[in-house]
Amino acid sequence: MGREVGVDEAIALLVRAQEDGLVTQPATTQNPAGMCNCCGDYCGVLRSLRSYPRPAEMVYSNHFAMVDPDLCTGCETCLTRCQMDAISINEEELAEINLDRCIGCGLCITTCPTEAMRLQPKENAYTPPVSTTEQMVTMAQKRGLM
Ligand code: SF4
Repeated sequence: MGREVGVDEAIALLVRAQEDGLVTQPATTQNPAGMCNCCGDYCGVLRSLRSYPRPAEMVYSNHFAMVDPDLCTGCETCLTRCQMDAISINEEELAEINLDRCIGCGLCITTCPTEAMRLQPKENAYTPPVSTTEQMVTMAQKRGLM
């Protein structure tokens, strides 16, 4: 099913995932037991998310992407990096974020050649459950199963 990796290898894998344009998705807990790194074409979760008109409503994320219009050159690099189709080029030929679609993954930040993109913390930050058990119990309660 897998193999143990050290911290250095884990970080190297995350860097590679970022370079390859994969969305890092840790489990929704303060101490996640695992995480996925996926693209929007082959991952069922991301493909489903992308099919919704407002993916941001379906994801627990405490950040969203923001463009600095003074730095953006409209190069479109971020359009292909975004797995949620959240970015477009507006009439002023600058990148524009659709906040209904942005899941705050940060992929658009790391390849912007002018550092025009940044992640902005949301005002009402969400505190994830402490453990996977608490996460599962919370999900069951929301579904009316407990
Ligand atoms: S990658 Fe950066 S400079 Fe290029 S369009 Fe996106 S925000 Fe603008």
